[in-house]
Amino acid sequence: MFALFEHPHFGPMLFDTGYSYRFFEETRSFPNLMYRWLTPVTLLEEQLAVNQLAAFHLDPSDITHIFISHFHADHIAALADFDKARYVYLPQAYDAVRTRRGIGALSQAFLPGLIPDDFEARSVPVDIDRPYALPPEYAPFTKGYDLLGDSSLLAVELPGHAAGQMGIFARCTGDGRDQAFFFVADAAWLGRSIKDDLPPHALADLFFTDPTAYKITLSNLHKIQVAQPDLKIIPSHCAETLATIATR
Ligand SMILES: [Zn+2]
Repeated sequence: MFALFEHPHFGPMLFDTGYSYRFFEETRSFPNLMYRWLTPVTLLEEQLAVNQLAAFHLDPSDITHIFISHFHADHIAALADFDKARYVYLPQAYDAVRTRRGIGALSQAFLPGLIPDDFEARSVPVDIDRPYALPPEYAPFTKGYDLLGDSSLLAVELPGHAAGQMGIFARCTGDGRDQAFFFVADAAWLGRSIKDDLPPHALADLFFTDPTAYKITLSNLHKIQVAQPDLKIIPSHCAETLATIATR
């Protein structure tokens, strides 16, 4: 899953990009071929971010920012399709993979070839030295980052699944709406896990950079969901959750 934010001042922006055919190019031979074996992918033309945006009458070059939750291939495979976008992410997420190649990269589910040549030139990493004190309703989350300076998009660290994973609180207002969303990427694979505070099978720990932190993050997501039943928490891979979200 990826998400489109439409901001009255900053324009259209993305949260992650989903897959692109570049994933297949990058996993054509060993060792990266193993990635394709572990997570078999089918990708239809209409699922590509660029094609889904066309339905909103948006051109790839209209996208001003891409907020990257973490650097697993299924979240960044289409970065290069957006030639004008600024890339925004927690610096520790990129630092964890930046110099990795071969097996070392693969072990982090990172495919260096998915990173555009001008990635660093277009990057605006989150300034982690300027945290934003989250209001009490965000408890147990207390520290965030005000991504645009108007508190419309607040990033939080969601450690455990991947180094420096970033989630985003997004508030949608106007047209009589006031709806809060919390995009949590892979902090949980299923909405039900958050509802029940139920971590996946212990075998899944093999895929997490920090299984203990993963469980704390999941528990925090559970707590905020209990405190705020109307908050729409959206894990990137949960089809059940996505089916409940109106597309526009
Ligand atoms: Zn992931």
